[in-house]
Amino acid sequence: MEIVPVQLKARSLSYSIYIGKEILPRLGEVLGPFPLSKKVLLISDPEVDQLHGKRVSAFLRKGGFLPLSFLVPSGEKNKSLAWASRLYNFLLRERLDRSSLIVALGGGVVGDLAGFVAATYMRGVPFIQLPTSLLAQIDSSVGGKVAVNHPRAKNMIGAFYQPLLVLIDLDFLQTLPEREFRAGMAEVIKYGVIADADFFSFLEENLEKIFRLDPEVLTFMIKRCCEIKASIVVQDEREEGLRAILNYGHTIGHALEAATRFRTYRHGEAVAVGMEAAGRISELLGLWRAEEASRQRALLKAANLPRALPLRPKRLLKLLSYDKKVREGRTHFVLTRAVGDAIIRPLYEEEVIATALTAMGKESA
Ligand code: NAD
Repeated sequence: MEIVPVQLKARSLSYSIYIGKEILPRLGEVLGPFPLSKKVLLISDPEVDQLHGKRVSAFLRKGGFLPLSFLVPSGEKNKSLAWASRLYNFLLRERLDRSSLIVALGGGVVGDLAGFVAATYMRGVPFIQLPTSLLAQIDSSVGGKVAVNHPRAKNMIGAFYQPLLVLIDLDFLQTLPEREFRAGMAEVIKYGVIADADFFSFLEENLEKIFRLDPEVLTFMIKRCCEIKASIVVQDEREEGLRAILNYGHTIGHALEAATRFRTYRHGEAVAVGMEAAGRISELLGLWRAEEASRQRALLKAANLPRALPLRPKRLLKLLSYDKKVREGRTHFVLTRAVGDAIIRPLYEEEVIATALTAMGKESA
């Protein structure tokens, strides 16, 4: 079992991420040191619960806990205050108290919602994450951001709230639909581009093994992603600066998701298109060489992720001006100087965005 420590400024909030194959049976053991009530609430969605719920409950029981279970229908629209409220009712009815643990078993939707409920019920109860999608294992379960959506904006109501621990069992990925896995890979590739050239090379060399779910390669990959995210998060716990670098590909990715009403793309797929755009903009500005842009393009392509823009650039440009990363009238972009080296930069040369997007519509990248 690999361990990634997340060392936050308040040491009492620091925690560990456990990563490995078949480590779920060690759940009771890793929870052992924490002073917790017997009753715990396992929050999941029906698909994940059907596949993995029983085993998780069994290992919780083995660890001396009495697990109750609450299922939230899967889908982004249920990451809502309405479902948080139903969860509060359940927690109160079952008399869970300040030392009762909440266990999030699922993808990012379940993790964000369960974490939000844990952060707010009785002003905060302990919680852990058992992330089951690739995106949750390498991104959403790390960093302590929890939230629900507001009907007018995603993730608008939330908190920074750290789990007691995160346990990432690779075996959860065996049942993950291929498209979800691929979408998660966009964020994996992103880490290489923004922070680690060696890791990017590792992905180039091992992509086939990754898609075969080779345990050794997958453990290294997930561990490295968690390390990169954790190292960025500890430098900027409340997202005041550096952490924005994690948004590489997201400015245009979000606009594309909004333009297609969140129906056409999985988040990671839209981020892949956004990375292609950011790569082209970086190239147009002379920040990185054409060869570097081609390497990113080739890896996204090898992972079977989309890179082309299927709609008129004008529609996206309009949406970009509403994006929350627009500060003082300028769109701030995460751009690249080389593979492994990203920067956050105001974009004075806004015409390059249009040039990049237009080219992406014409060529199938
Ligand atoms: P998701 O939670 O909707 O999961 C995707 C689908 O995969 C769901 O239908 C789920 O039932 C299914 N699934 C998950 N694990 C499975 C498994 N092992 N086997 C079979 N099916 C499985 O989506 P996601 O992509 O995991 O997460 C997206 C969410 O994460 C968004 O709400 C986003 O805002 C959030 N997010 C949060 C952060 C953060 O820092 N908190 C970061 C990135 C994304």
